[in-house]
Amino acid sequence: MRIDVLGVGFDDVTLEEAADIGGVLAGSEGFSYVVTPNPEFLLQAKKDEEFRAVLNGAGLVLADGVGVVKAAGILGRPLKGRVPGIDFAARLLAHMAKTGRRLFLLGAKPGVAETAAANLQKQYPGLMVCGTHDGYFKEDGPIVAEIREAHADVVFVCLGAPRQEFWMARNGKDTGAHLMVGLGGSLDVFSG
Ligand code: UDP
Repeated sequence: MRIDVLGVGFDDVTLEEAADIGGVLAGSEGFSYVVTPNPEFLLQAKKDEEFRAVLNGAGLVLADGVGVVKAAGILGRPLKGRVPGIDFAARLLAHMAKTGRRLFLLGAKPGVAETAAANLQKQYPGLMVCGTHDGYFKEDGPIVAEIREAHADVVFVCLGAPRQEFWMARNGKDTGAHLMVGLGGSLDVFSG
């Protein structure tokens, strides 16, 4: 059951529970994506029905930040707590390093994803990064093909909101990946 905050349904999960579900989805047949809406997302989703549908269509909808958790509490539908995207990503990376899942990093300025990949591979020994691409491209087709050819299980899509959410919903299935996570500026953090 999801908890509704301004028309977006949030999964009532702890960070640990979210990471466990992410690990299962990464190894499952089919495709799903993860979104981490903050209050700005919700204001935008309130005005934009298509964006709202994309958020609600995610396999996991995580409350990124205290604003959403507070709003849920005020509405009388409390959430267990916040699940920041970057913390979810860290748990998922540890799981992927153990299970040998293949990760593709998409987004940020040219060169950033490569540096992020090198740092993550140091931080999570055994992590398999199967490809990277910057986030300043015009056509989706070549990127979709690149992810497919890399045989990625998981893609971190870091194009900023709402572009990354629309991108995952529109292209995810065609890439053959099992899980995509919309992570905003995380590649800049991982590369720093
Ligand atoms: N970004 C991108 N392509 C674009 C626009 C932005 O790859 O067309 C990247 C940008 O370089 C940054 C990330 O998206 O690494 C997220 O940007 P921002 O911090 O604005 O997003 P937020 O984390 O607030 O969602």
